[in-house]
Amino acid sequence: MTMRAPAIVWFFQDLRLDDQPALAAALAAGRPIVPVFVLDTTSPGAWAPGGASRFWLHGSLTALGADLAARGARLVLRRGVMGEELLRLAEETGAAEIHGGRAVEPWLRAAIAALRPALARRGVVFHEHETRLLFAPERLKTQNGGAFSVFTPFARAAFAAGIEGEAWPAPATLPGFSGALASDVLATWGLAPARPDWAAEMRRLWTPGAAGAAARLARFLTDAFPAYDRARDIPGHASTSMLSPHLHWGEISPRRVWQAASRAAPGGGKPLHSFLNELLWREFSAYLLWHHPHLPEQPLRAEFAAMPWREDGAARAAWQRGETGIPIVDAGMRQLWRWGWMHNRVRMIAASFLVKHLLLPWQAGEAWFWDTLLDADLAANAASWQWVAGSGADAAPYFRIFNPILQGRKFDPEGAYVRRFVPELAALPDEFIHAPWEAPGLALRAAGVELGKTYPRPIIDLGLGRARALAAFAALPRRAA
Ligand SMILES: Cc1cc2nc3c(=O)[nH]c(=O)nc-3n(C[C@H](O)[C@H](O)[C@H](O)COP(=O)(O)OP(=O)(O)OC[C@H]3O[C@@H](n4cnc5c(N)ncnc54)[C@H](O)[C@@H]3O)c2cc1C
Repeated sequence: MTMRAPAIVWFFQDLRLDDQPALAAALAAGRPIVPVFVLDTTSPGAWAPGGASRFWLHGSLTALGADLAARGARLVLRRGVMGEELLRLAEETGAAEIHGGRAVEPWLRAAIAALRPALARRGVVFHEHETRLLFAPERLKTQNGGAFSVFTPFARAAFAAGIEGEAWPAPATLPGFSGALASDVLATWGLAPARPDWAAEMRRLWTPGAAGAAARLARFLTDAFPAYDRARDIPGHASTSMLSPHLHWGEISPRRVWQAASRAAPGGGKPLHSFLNELLWREFSAYLLWHHPHLPEQPLRAEFAAMPWREDGAARAAWQRGETGIPIVDAGMRQLWRWGWMHNRVRMIAASFLVKHLLLPWQAGEAWFWDTLLDADLAANAASWQWVAGSGADAAPYFRIFNPILQGRKFDPEGAYVRRFVPELAALPDEFIHAPWEAPGLALRAAGVELGKTYPRPIIDLGLGRARALAAFAALPRRAA
């Protein structure tokens, strides 16, 4: 008996079997399946996975491989140029079709576009499915048929359009391909960090893979979701879902998260619940990247190209290490290093400090986040940095400059967050925790703090930094209305 030509299921950032449309389509074709993941560190250039992403990917591929094996299919691992590897696998297997998720990353879109005709010449069809987003980027349009550039009308249109279908569970068994196929051994990819001490806390905090994602969602819905609307800006509490790395790697479908949260929300999520609104920010970021492929590199507002960004290696390094002398910024940057994740409010404060008070380019912050975030996402990271910098489509106005002391006092009033990540300040009274340089000598001594020795003095005078940023902004060419 001859075996039917198989279907390749190409996994990228949709590393799950549950509610996975590419897998579903391959199964519907009634063919044996060849699941594959290709590690391409060449084509993405500067956007090859950073250190934290590689750590996560190692765990996520281990989990996906086990989930597939338990159902009768083997995950094939290949390393090389994306298009070339997929083409080679199609030739080796005699596959009739490839099913994969739709890409929004410009390098990946280009790779798939180039691959299609090469596959077609061999009679292989490449089918793209919406595995990563709730809304296909072309689906939502303004009344004039154009692309949205402002979040609120985008979110309104998305909410009105609604989510199609119900999330469905992972199949119990899979028709594996019986032919012999070479596969790399994951350990040889060197994704696990060379410095194991760096990842120690991350290993304790996170469980990459679909099971870890489902457990995180369940815990969030019972513990933090009921108070999310009120508490989500408080970084010292476990107030948000921490689902971002799972969503980025596609270990859980956004539809599953959306539907579970809607069911748990008062009124079934209507009017739009603040958590669902955040999921729409994720959609909006991908939408922006789709419509503006230069988003990760170039300001959307062209006039920002003339911004007199500074070069200051010492200031940049102090920011990266969490040694700026501004407690809430330092706490955030240290949380990032230790956890591979930072609370959203603090991301905004730390990013604003970099681009405004320090007048360093947003791309420098974006690159650091890219390397250190477990949820590093080309779209969300770029869109968020441009939002903070004021150069984005729907951005915070540049002249609105976060005061990190006031932000700290407002969102971390007892300093729980700062005390946790900046332990050398832990014994300071609440009133000085966000501005230790304002504390009298006696209070500092009693808390064991010696500024400039045990904890740095601020690397910049906040007032001067603010004035410099405003002056730079005022000197920009005005945007044509
Ligand atoms: C400078 C800066 C850089 C950022 N870089 C990234 C990034 O690389 N990857 C990333 O996933 N998020 C990024 N964010 C957005 C946001 O900070 C994180 O998504 C959020 O903190 C993740 O925590 P959570 O899962 O507990 O979020 P929750 O509050 O539980 O939100 C649920 C989900 O909604 C999505 N989401 C929430 N806020 C945003 C947002 N503002 N933009 C896009 N999606 C959002 C995430 O997928 C998140 O998991 C960035 C924000 C800033 C200010």
